[in-house]
Amino acid sequence: MELADRTKHITASSTSRMRELANDLKKSGIDVINFAAGELDGDADDVIKAAAKQAIDAGCNKYTPTLGRKELREAIAKHVSQRCGTPYRFDEIAVTAGAKQALYNSVMVLCNPGDEVIIPKPYWVTFPAQVRLAGALPVFVDTKLSGYRLLAADIENAVTPSTKAIIVNSPNNPTGVIYEPEEMVRIANLALQRKIWIVFDECYSELVRPGATHRNIVQLVEAAKAQTILINSFSKSHGVTGWRIGYACGPREVIGAMENLQGHTTSNPCSISQFAAEAALRNDDGKFIHRVNAVLAERLRMAMNIVATMRDVRCAPAEGAFYLFLNVEGKFGKSYRGRAIDNIQTICELILSETNVAVVSGDSFGDSTGLRVSYAIETAHVEEGLQRIKRLFDCMV
Ligand code: PLP
Repeated sequence: MELADRTKHITASSTSRMRELANDLKKSGIDVINFAAGELDGDADDVIKAAAKQAIDAGCNKYTPTLGRKELREAIAKHVSQRCGTPYRFDEIAVTAGAKQALYNSVMVLCNPGDEVIIPKPYWVTFPAQVRLAGALPVFVDTKLSGYRLLAADIENAVTPSTKAIIVNSPNNPTGVIYEPEEMVRIANLALQRKIWIVFDECYSELVRPGATHRNIVQLVEAAKAQTILINSFSKSHGVTGWRIGYACGPREVIGAMENLQGHTTSNPCSISQFAAEAALRNDDGKFIHRVNAVLAERLRMAMNIVATMRDVRCAPAEGAFYLFLNVEGKFGKSYRGRAIDNIQTICELILSETNVAVVSGDSFGDSTGLRVSYAIETAHVEEGLQRIKRLFDCMV
């Protein structure tokens, strides 16, 4: 019995697979260091936890409006208006089960079969999968040659009459790069001129390293608001990946179409998470994220000291999120104890089998010359894991 064709366009998320493999090894007693995690290691923000407990005790267990409670949509609209310097109303906000659903809703309401969607590469694994599920075609723009920075000129070269949207993710997963504001301005103007939608995923907006600044495309070009869907989430900013609460901000017609779609798929996002998210926005004193960023900055400083000692390895500018993207193509053509190093899979397998460290192969992100390390794990593990990789790399000759 055949399954639907659409199931052939998608495979299991390789980042989740690696994370689970590493957890299984750990449970079986092996001392695995897991660099495959895509979430903060510490506990959630106390403010959001207290509000969730209160919501449970107060019996907030019923369905809410599909796109979230009006009070929450208003709180998000206020927050986004302040950040962007341009007004958003509650009916320009859709609250979703994480940024992932906001992204899925976006491509589902924007794309017709055959439409093209430009995706910078390396990309977060889910972008092309969702575009294909919507029946559209991902068109990739490689950022590697420009130091993993997205250039408007490269986007322009990829635009065709079928281009419907561009998905921009900054701070970026998997590279950690924050795209240059000048390029974002050029991309906004190009999109306006060619009537292309911009899906701007900034779910790592609060995770920025010292010296770097993140601004979204609407903050930079107000006119882009009419053609942009901003995507954000509480997952990374408040340490609640499991609570599934995120949002999309966009023109009313887009948000209205999302309401119809979401009404027939998942309905409202978790009611408890909604109450918690509202409290997080209204009572946030900034202390939680400040603490998280201080820890991440320290881990990054230490990590970069070790990476600098790895021969033939280059690292993308680590400015935000919590990832290092290591270009290891300098290792191709070498060998380890008689085994030829011919591709990125071999390197990642050797890292796991020889050092018990789990990393994610760049293949998963459309770049078969790199691998991703998450430094959102205990500081001592970041150090130990990178030292193990360095020792392995030293033996590749
Ligand atoms: N967008 C990017 C770039 C991500 O890396 C992730 C999660 O890792 C998401 C979206 C999904 O986030 P959420 O947990 O809010 O669905």
